Amino acid sequence: MRILGWGLFLLGILLILLGCWLRQFWLIIIADIGMLAAIIFLAVSNRCPHCGRFLGRAGGGTFCPHCGERLEK
Ligand SMILES: [Zn+2]
Repeated sequence: MRILGWGLFLLGILLILLGCWLRQFWLIIIADIGMLAAIIFLAVSNRCPHCGRFLGRAGGGTFCPHCGERLEK
């Protein structure tokens, strides 16, 4: 599910570049909203399924640094 968030994030960057290139300001606004949604999505999904604590930079790891449970991806 994290891939989906990053995909949305990359899409936002591409839309901003496209908006600058085409000088379409509304495209940049839509991209900003999309990127904000992606950041929120990543923050919410970046939790341990066992203890519910935020994983932070340990999100890509195999085990939760708080409770030591295996992280299912
Ligand atoms: Zn945990």
